[in-house]
Amino acid sequence: MTATELLMEHEIAVRLGFFFGVLVFMAGWEIMAPRRILSVSKRLRWANNLALVFLNTALVRLLFPAAAVGMAAFAMDRGWGLFSTLDAPYWLAVVLSVIAMDLVIYLQHVLVHAVPALWRLHRVHHADLDYDVTTGARFHPIEIILSMLIKFATIALLGPPVLAVLLFEVLLSATAMFNHGNVRIPRNIERMLRWLVVTPDMHRVHHSVEDDEANSNFGFNLPWWDHLFGTYRAQPRAGHLNMTLGIHKYRDPAQVERLPGMLALPFVGEVTGYAINRRGWKASAGSYAVTGERRQVSATTPERTGRTTGMRP
Ligand SMILES: [Zn+2]
Ligand SMILES: [Zn+2]
Repeated sequence: MTATELLMEHEIAVRLGFFFGVLVFMAGWEIMAPRRILSVSKRLRWANNLALVFLNTALVRLLFPAAAVGMAAFAMDRGWGLFSTLDAPYWLAVVLSVIAMDLVIYLQHVLVHAVPALWRLHRVHHADLDYDVTTGARFHPIEIILSMLIKFATIALLGPPVLAVLLFEVLLSATAMFNHGNVRIPRNIERMLRWLVVTPDMHRVHHSVEDDEANSNFGFNLPWWDHLFGTYRAQPRAGHLNMTLGIHKYRDPAQVERLPGMLALPFVGEVTGYAINRRGWKASAGSYAVTGERRQVSATTPERTGRTTGMRP
């Protein structure tokens, strides 16, 4: 049995093992050293966020039984992709493939914020009113299928070693759970860590209700892309404890924290943007408190439409 066949055979066990291992580890850390006080019942959020994860896992297995690792083996057999034409050493091909796939994930994340129809899908991830390890795995099934298709296309063009794809899948799921963790990390350690990996404090900025903050820090694994492409933002204006998480207008836990509401979310409301060009911040445009007490959306908060932020056609 070749190494590739061995990897293929144990792919599900390796991925599930890592998923539950990291989930339990992060859940324990969140209990021991929580960063923020959760505003919605943890039981409600966990039950519904994890129900969505199981639904997505079943759907992906049904539609793409061989998954990304299977696609990598398929591409390798046929000599597809960049790396099959290059004579790169194996270890270098693995490292470069993981980095390249991470860049694609970054670009895909920017894309789902920039295209209004895709933002509708991605809203499910952002609508969570709290931020913890289960937020990291909470995506609409259509976004999951779309991600899978983009991943297949990337693998076909890149021709990465099978090991690189498995490594990337495990790494992405582990770091997504880590950087959505509601965990406290000592400041000095966090500052060093965020040069190597996207930390919870770095990614939390991306879950801000503020447009300009939400359109920052798109990275999931490597923090370098945000620095390179100018989308890096160190901290939220209101501070990590006072910042408001989620999306404008969708703040009812009965809708955004329950499975039926999450599944329906892409199909409700008009598209008002959150597009990538809305990165400017205007104090007059109905923004949330810069400092001081945490504020919730109220009837007096002007609704943000394209008009107030210069999104005229
Ligand atoms: Zn996002
Ligand atoms: Zn996120």
